[in-house]
Amino acid sequence: MWQCPQCGRSFEKQEQAHYCTRPQTIDEYIARQDAAAQPRLREIRNILRSALPQAQERISWSMPTYWQGRNLIHFAASKKHLGLYPGGEATGVFAEELKHYDVSKGAIRLPYDQDLPEELITKIARWCLEAYGI
Ligand SMILES: [Zn+2]
Repeated sequence: MWQCPQCGRSFEKQEQAHYCTRPQTIDEYIARQDAAAQPRLREIRNILRSALPQAQERISWSMPTYWQGRNLIHFAASKKHLGLYPGGEATGVFAEELKHYDVSKGAIRLPYDQDLPEELITKIARWCLEAYGI
């Protein structure tokens, strides 16, 4: 299995020739990830959509993004985890509640094999709206 670093699509053959385009929507982005990761990606998308009902969904920095006057929060699929990117200030504010997760400045790594902390993600997303939204 080979994943194109440009567009994220997976192919049987290494360096498979293909019509390479970047995903334009969150649906396209999710559809291009490993089948095993897709349920969690849909789950976090639903959590963020409920937490940020006024925000626009777009792809920014090649990641699914919630935008309301500014980028509020991004998420992205990695091999073993789902990355949530609320910005460096947010990971500082929520450090205590995030202590059981693998966190670095601005990035929270949520393993696919664990339930998503829905309430905490909702709180962080709303905090981002307060802090960065217009
Ligand atoms: Zn490609």
